[in-house]
Amino acid sequence: MQSLRKWNRFYLAVVSSVLVVLCCIILVALQSWTQDIADFTRQNMRTEILNATHDNLKRRIEHVFLHLDREQFHLKRDLRTFIWLVVHLLPQGDGDQLFHYLEQKTPTFSNTMHGHFVSVILYDRKKNEMTLFERGSIEDISGTFTEKSLQSFLDACPVKTSVTFKNAVVYLYVEEKSIHQGVKQSAYHQVHASLYGKNGYIWVNEILSFAGGDKYAVRVIHPNLKESEGILLSTDFQDAMGNLPYLTELEGINRDGEVFHTYYFKNRSDDRVVEKAAYARLYKPFNWVIATGEPLEDILLGAEEMAAYNDDLLQKTQFNVILGFLAVFAAAIAALVLANCIYNRKILHHVHAETQLDALTSALSRKAGELRLKDAFKPQSESGPVALVLLMDIDNFKQINDTYGHDMGDTVLREVTRAVKDNIRSSDGFVRWGGEEFLLLLDGIPEQKCSIIAENILECVRKLRFEYGLTDFGVTVSIGSSRFLQADRDYSQVVKRADEALYHSKRTGKDKHTSWSKLT
Ligand code: GH3
Ligand code: MG
Ligand code: MG
Repeated sequence: MQSLRKWNRFYLAVVSSVLVVLCCIILVALQSWTQDIADFTRQNMRTEILNATHDNLKRRIEHVFLHLDREQFHLKRDLRTFIWLVVHLLPQGDGDQLFHYLEQKTPTFSNTMHGHFVSVILYDRKKNEMTLFERGSIEDISGTFTEKSLQSFLDACPVKTSVTFKNAVVYLYVEEKSIHQGVKQSAYHQVHASLYGKNGYIWVNEILSFAGGDKYAVRVIHPNLKESEGILLSTDFQDAMGNLPYLTELEGINRDGEVFHTYYFKNRSDDRVVEKAAYARLYKPFNWVIATGEPLEDILLGAEEMAAYNDDLLQKTQFNVILGFLAVFAAAIAALVLANCIYNRKILHHVHAETQLDALTSALSRKAGELRLKDAFKPQSESGPVALVLLMDIDNFKQINDTYGHDMGDTVLREVTRAVKDNIRSSDGFVRWGGEEFLLLLDGIPEQKCSIIAENILECVRKLRFEYGLTDFGVTVSIGSSRFLQADRDYSQVVKRADEALYHSKRTGKDKHTSWSKLT
C-alpha cells in the first residue's frame, strides 16, 4: 500500500510537471505571438499611413496642376477679350493713320490687366513695310518677316488675330512664353502661400537637363529657403544620411513622371534635419518638378500613438489570456488531484471490501473474521445476551469432491454459504474459517436461542439439492458451538471450545449440533 501511495504521488508529480512545462511553453509562445502581432500591426500601420500620406501629398500637387491649367485658360480668355476690344477700337484708314494710332496706344497694349503684353504688327501693303509695336517700342521688322513667314510665326502663338484694312493688315498676338511667364508668376505666389501644418509646403525645381548632373535644374520656388531660389541644383547632392534625393527624384520623374520617396531635409519650423516623405511630379509645359513633403515624425506621430494604444490593448489581452489560462490550468490540476483522490478512495474501498470477503463464497475472510472475534471479545455477563460462536463443517466433503469433481465442490461451498446467510441477520458475522469449515459469530443473543439457530442452519442445508447429470444429491453440516466465558483471555478459547463441540458432532454421527456447555 505504501509503495502504491508513493507511485501515485510520483505519477501526480509527473503529470503536474508536464502540465507546468506545457503551460510555460504556451506562455512563451503566447508572448512571442503577441510580439509578432505588435510588430506586424506597427509595420502595417506605418505602410497604411505612408500610403495615405502618398495620396494626400499627391492631391496637393494635383491641386497646383489644376491651378496652373486654370490660370493658362483664364489668361488666354482674358487676352482674347482684350484683343477683341483693341480690334474694335482700331481706326478705319490707311497704313499711316493706323501707324499713328498704334504709336500712341503701344504703352497700353504692353500693360494689360494681367501685366502681359500684347504685340502688334502693322503691315503696310502699299509701302511694303512691316512694323512691330511691342512693350512701348516700335521696330521696323520688314527685313525679318515676309507675309508668309509671319503667318507661320503667328500659327505657333496661342492667342492671335488679324484685321485687314485698305492696303494694310494689323496683327495682334501674344506669345506662348509670355503666357507661361504670367502663369508662373501667379503660381509663384500661390505656392508660397500654400503651407500645410508646421512643416508641409510645396517647392518647384525647373529641370534644365533630364540627363541629370551638375546644374541639371534650377530651384524656382522654395517657401522654406526663399533666399536659395534661383540656385542651380546637382543630382550629386547628398542629404544628411548620404542619400541622393535629387537623383532619386529625377530617376522617378524620367521613369514615371512622378515619384514618392523619402530623404532628409531641414524642418521649416525648427531647422532640425529630419526624414521626410515627399511626392514630386513633372509639369511638362514648364519642365517644372512640383514637389511637396511632410516630416515622417509628424506623419507617424498618429501611427505611434495608435501603435502604443495597440500595444497596450495587446498587453491587456495577453494578461487576461494568461490569467484565464492559469485559471484553467489551476482548475485542471485541482480536478486532476480531486479525481485522483476520488479514484484512490474508491480503489481503497474496493480493495478493503475485497480483502474482507472470501473470493469463492463471499463469506467474510478468515482475517476479517478474526478481527470481528477480537472486537466481540469483551467481558460477558452470565445472564442476558451473549456472544456465541458456531463452528460448522460440511460433512464428507472430500467425498463430494471426489465423486462430483472439484467444481461441484466449489458450488456446494457457495450454496451452503448462501443458504446460511439467508437464515441469519446481516449483522451476524459468517466467516469462511478454512476449507469447508465456517464460523458464525452471533453477538447480543440469549444463549438459549443458540440451539434453535443451529437447528435452522442444519435444516436449511439439508434442504439444498445439487444436480449432477441425471441424479442429484444433498449435503449436511455438523455444528459445534460455545459462548464467550468470563474467564476467557482471548477469543481463541471460545473457538477452541466450539471446535471441541464440532468434533463431538462429527464423532457422534454428523449432521447435528453440539453445544460445548452440554458436553461438560
Ligand atoms: P468430514 O465429514 O470428517 O469433515 O470429512 P471431510 O471429507 O469433509 O473432511 P476432510 O478434511 O477429509 O476433507 C476436506 C476436503 O475439503 C479436503 C479438501 O480437498 C477439500 N477442500 C478444501 N477447500 C476446498 C475448496 O475450496 N474447494 C473444493 N472443491 N474443495 C476444498
Ligand atoms: Mg468436512
Ligand atoms: Mg474439515
